[in-house]
Amino acid sequence: MSAISFKHLTKNYGSLFALNDVSLDIEEGEFFGLLGPNGAGKTTLISILAGLCRPSAGSVEVMGHDVQTDFRAARRLLGIVPQELVFDPFFTVRETLQFQSGYFGIKNNGDWIDEILHHLGLADKANKNMRALSGGMKRRVLVAQALVHRPPVIVLDEPTAGVDVELRQSLWKFISRLNQEGHTIVLTTHYLEEAQELCGRIAMLKKGQIVALDTTANLLARVNNSQTKDGDL
Ligand code: ATP
Repeated sequence: MSAISFKHLTKNYGSLFALNDVSLDIEEGEFFGLLGPNGAGKTTLISILAGLCRPSAGSVEVMGHDVQTDFRAARRLLGIVPQELVFDPFFTVRETLQFQSGYFGIKNNGDWIDEILHHLGLADKANKNMRALSGGMKRRVLVAQALVHRPPVIVLDEPTAGVDVELRQSLWKFISRLNQEGHTIVLTTHYLEEAQELCGRIAMLKKGQIVALDTTANLLARVNNSQTKDGDL
């Protein structure tokens, strides 16, 4: 079974097609990269997956559960790290994670929360108010929040935009470990270098369509080839 299956997904705003008939299967256990320039449709794809936005046509399944018709089951399987830093500023870091655990009906999640905080370098911030954290620290909390219910599929929407090298490295070490333990990881990024370091397979999105889908090694060979020929992918 695929971890995520996008089926003929279209999203249009009038004549603008943010997504145009996108079909894509991401298999269980993959570290998958969604690459594309500004406006390519990456966030729209993730928003539909997260149930935040309705497709104009097509459907998405998470491990066989349709996001439109079986949302709670699909959402339970997904850990989503969005781009926006939205928190209750008066919650502490720990309260933020406990609140998120509560959403999924999980009680007594303290040990797992401590482990996440430790791996994300947030242990000493556990009792700080969210409003007192730096942008990079808030981004770490976003990742922690996505993991509280131990989702088998983790989706990160440009998680390293504007964060320092140290966080990048600790974040990727932790996410790679989760992937080795069997979690499916989907990462959106603008950067081929970032995707090539981490992802086994990459889809390139452009103007709402998949223009390339291949293993990272094959895609890099095509990029190098097209650069020498000065062509497009
Ligand atoms: P970025 O890398 O800049 O985050 P992206 O690949 O995530 O870009 P999307 O945010 O999915 O791209 O946007 C795809 C297209 O859909 C863009 O042209 C964008 O302007 C358009 N779009 C997105 N949301 C809306 C909306 N609510 N109303 C109108 N157009 C929208």
